[in-house]
Amino acid sequence: MTTDRRPRLADVYPGLVADIVRALRLEGPKSASFAETFQELLFYGPCPDHGPPCLVTAPPGTPCPAMTEVELDGETLAMFHLDVDDTAKMSITHVEVLDGRELDPPA
Ligand SMILES: [Zn+2]
Repeated sequence: MTTDRRPRLADVYPGLVADIVRALRLEGPKSASFAETFQELLFYGPCPDHGPPCLVTAPPGTPCPAMTEVELDGETLAMFHLDVDDTAKMSITHVEVLDGRELDPPA
């Protein structure tokens, strides 16, 4: 097998992704479109830079110059680290989970 196909974050942590997608949809139309891409994010493993509970969702070495928080029910749910390309399209490079939930190590 030479393929390095990664699992989707949504397949590894379905509960987490469901909560984040729900939070993004509650934030309004702009974030709702972000929610669609969030469900397709691939999971590259735990983050070596920020430590647990940060999850890497872009190939290692992808720059992440921007950050944004997502809240659910008034609590900070997660911090996204973002890469912004030439067309101002944002992609999520890291997801730092900040609500204190237990994340099972990936199988
Ligand atoms: Zn990280």
